[in-house]
Amino acid sequence: MSQPSPTPSPVTLEKIVSLCKRRGFVYQSADIYGGLNGVYDIGPLGTLMKNNIRAAWLRSLKMLGLDILQQEGSLLGPEAMWHASGHTTNFHDPLIDCLVCKHRFRADDIDINKPCPHCGNKSWTEVREFHLMFKTQVGAAADQSSLAYLRPETAQAIFVNFKNIMSSNRVKIPFGVAQIGKAFRNEITPKQFLFRMREFEQMEIEWFCTPETALDFFKLFSDARIAFYAAVGIQPEHIRLRPHEANELSHYSSATSDVEYQFPFGWKELEGIAYRGNFDLTQHMKHSGKDLSVFDDATGQSYVPHVVECSVGVDRLFLTLLFEAYHEELEGDDLRTVLKLHPRIAPIKAAFFPLTKAQAEPMKKIYQEMLSHGLEVQYDLSGSIGKRYRRQDEIGTPFCFTYDFESETDGAVTVRDRDTMQQQRIPINQIGQFIHDKINAK
Ligand code: ATP
Repeated sequence: MSQPSPTPSPVTLEKIVSLCKRRGFVYQSADIYGGLNGVYDIGPLGTLMKNNIRAAWLRSLKMLGLDILQQEGSLLGPEAMWHASGHTTNFHDPLIDCLVCKHRFRADDIDINKPCPHCGNKSWTEVREFHLMFKTQVGAAADQSSLAYLRPETAQAIFVNFKNIMSSNRVKIPFGVAQIGKAFRNEITPKQFLFRMREFEQMEIEWFCTPETALDFFKLFSDARIAFYAAVGIQPEHIRLRPHEANELSHYSSATSDVEYQFPFGWKELEGIAYRGNFDLTQHMKHSGKDLSVFDDATGQSYVPHVVECSVGVDRLFLTLLFEAYHEELEGDDLRTVLKLHPRIAPIKAAFFPLTKAQAEPMKKIYQEMLSHGLEVQYDLSGSIGKRYRRQDEIGTPFCFTYDFESETDGAVTVRDRDTMQQQRIPINQIGQFIHDKINAK
């Protein structure tokens, strides 16, 4: 009796977690010791993909044609800085425990008028404020002056360096500072894999401008960020810009929008875009006693620049791109799992297969030449060509090249497209250009 064909089914979080572990995108941190909740290690393929995400983000900023500098701020910051930014007093989430099963929840994540979603009893503790920053002590003396925090966002390091950057780089308002780096939040309930982690990475830009131009820049960045998501392969119907309602806005912001993605668990924030007024610089001026205002030649007056901020989690975007790319398709009677990642984002750009052992040597040479062009590529000789395609489909490799019996005489190879599975013949001396063109396609 023949087996029924497997049926493709929609992507789920479980499928992504399993693929990530199986193929070396992401591992639970300290896995052999049972793991650390909300903390992950990025494996070999994941590292390549994260590098591509960072590069795509930086490229999208460069393409705006604006003055944008980069910096790498420290992860540890003194208590005084986090006090000025408001984080020591305001950066907390409401915490509640079930008295019966002891399960812990973010009180704003559940309806506390209903029974515990875990055990079904209705017996809650009071709601308490739980502070999200990781606190530590710097140096041997354990007093107030040695108190430091791991940063819960990267942005503050930009604000405190505002004057350093201006005076050492000959930039004028308006200009931006972009930064990519780790952030730490002791989330009450890390969940949904890379969606809510305790150690994660952010890509942030702070755009410094005059108050009069700020709302125009807010619009410019909102449009640019949506265009970025299209350029990394997200379908427009899966992403939206949601302006905050008046009651959601922070007291210092007159315009904030979330870029939201349609995850399998609902529409959720992927990026925050906020017009922050001059709140941050003003706070740091007040608390540090240093003048962070700038002189405006046109008016002959000093003012504190206003800021538009865009902030996205690298890991949350990584997860988003995996959800977007994951497909199951029937190929004959078999189920094919394929990650339809944009070639710019795919960890491996191309794979090189000799049809049989007899073609191994010339194909290896082509593969090595591609490596020497700086391309991330793989070489695979084991198993049938079909099996080799499957392995590459599952990790999102957009192109597979096969050197066959004719290649020696016609100087060409077959290239197979991951998404259409169409094959075409291309001259060997055009392979490098072919791959570059696809990576850089709009
Ligand atoms: P949320 O409401 O989801 O907790 P937030 O509004 O606190 O997010 P921001 O402080 O605006 O988040 O952070 C900017 C971006 O950083 C978020 O849009 C998200 O992409 C990312 N981010 C924030 N917290 C986490 C986390 N715990 N794990 C992974 N990414 C995060």
